[in-house]
Amino acid sequence: MIPSVQMTQELSERINSVTPSATLEMAAKARKLRAAGKDIIGLSLGEPDFNTPDYIKDAAIQAVNDDYNSYTPVDGYVDLKNAIIIKFKRDNGLTYEHSQLVVSTGAKQALYNVAQVVLNKGDEVLLPCPYWVSYSDIVKLADGIPVEIPTSLESDFKMTPEQLEAAITPNTKMLWYSSPCNPSGSIYSEKELRALADVLQKHPKIIVVSDEIYEHINYGVTEHASMAAFEDMYDRTVTVNGVAKAFAMTGWRIGYIGAPTYIARACNKLQGQVTSGANCIAQRAVITALTESPSKVQYMVDEFKARRKIILGLLNAIPGFKCNEPEGAFYVYPDITAHFGKTYNGVTIHNASDFAMYLLEYANVATVTGDAFGNGNCIRISYAASEKEIREAISRIQAALN
Ligand code: PMP
Ligand code: GLU
Repeated sequence: MIPSVQMTQELSERINSVTPSATLEMAAKARKLRAAGKDIIGLSLGEPDFNTPDYIKDAAIQAVNDDYNSYTPVDGYVDLKNAIIIKFKRDNGLTYEHSQLVVSTGAKQALYNVAQVVLNKGDEVLLPCPYWVSYSDIVKLADGIPVEIPTSLESDFKMTPEQLEAAITPNTKMLWYSSPCNPSGSIYSEKELRALADVLQKHPKIIVVSDEIYEHINYGVTEHASMAAFEDMYDRTVTVNGVAKAFAMTGWRIGYIGAPTYIARACNKLQGQVTSGANCIAQRAVITALTESPSKVQYMVDEFKARRKIILGLLNAIPGFKCNEPEGAFYVYPDITAHFGKTYNGVTIHNASDFAMYLLEYANVATVTGDAFGNGNCIRISYAASEKEIREAISRIQAALN
């Protein structure tokens, strides 16, 4: 659980300016309530409810028995880099050299590294909303300024080229987005990415972070596309990926980047002073995860797809829930503004945060407020849970709002 840290002058301004991760905080609250005997259904955390597949676990067991126990190269084992090179080529048509790759302790550290090595005080980072919860704080930790670009349900929560153009200032240093998007599930098509790249052509200094960690959790409507696959964007795009989601390996903590060499080298230098190389056993297991065909984990995607249909059907039947149809990842992000100003069980809902807290208290269902993702009209519900839990959770939500 994340202990709550009081803002105090004894601590740095840096840490005082950071908000705790709302996803992890809500998961911690749910755990605490469960420990106190409450029957909480947790739909707050983006974590597959599957086990890591056996063929990957076997590789880890083999690594233990083969005595992989020493420090690894800071930026990752050479044979893991070979596997990442194969993966990028096979899935994304991207060609990277070893010097362009850095393996980190989760995609979260990979993102943190990039912010630390690229941003100077006052640099602006464009974040189309909703964005993944940690982006804005990772940017702030690097003295950058998060600049939100609002989108809406009507535009499927995607930023238009006009919005991108309008948000760019002389201080804009980076653009960060995830596709498939956590939390909206939206996916930018190749054509849509090209239109954004056309805007960026007029601003050659802007560096793009393309977070593709949900790449394989794609329900088949829009094909996955990578910004770095455009020749004119390759030299200024950092492609972030990891194994947490598609391979059900959240706790193994491996993420990686493919980047221009100068950025990868800088991340390597930073990591060498902070964490050293990522865990050796996890790295060995990831070699197998990335080398085998992604079709081996398709069974999880099929299951998420079936659950998506169920949860959308159930939520759309509740008055005051408006959902887009997520094309990937495993979240729904309903607009719940119709509930603002209403009073249930004596509790008045003023905003999404009140709504999420109300659901926790009166429906015993943990979700995450949309504010944490830069859009206060919505809440995020994860459907990486069993069908039984999803059905029970939504029926409890319905009852609590009746
Ligand atoms: N990016 C996105 C969009 C995510 O949802 C997550 C969630 N874990 C991460 C990065 C971080 O992944 P990791 O667990 O590999 O640190
Ligand atoms: N990325 C997941 C989520 O959005 C895991 C939690 C976290 O790392 O913040 O729920």
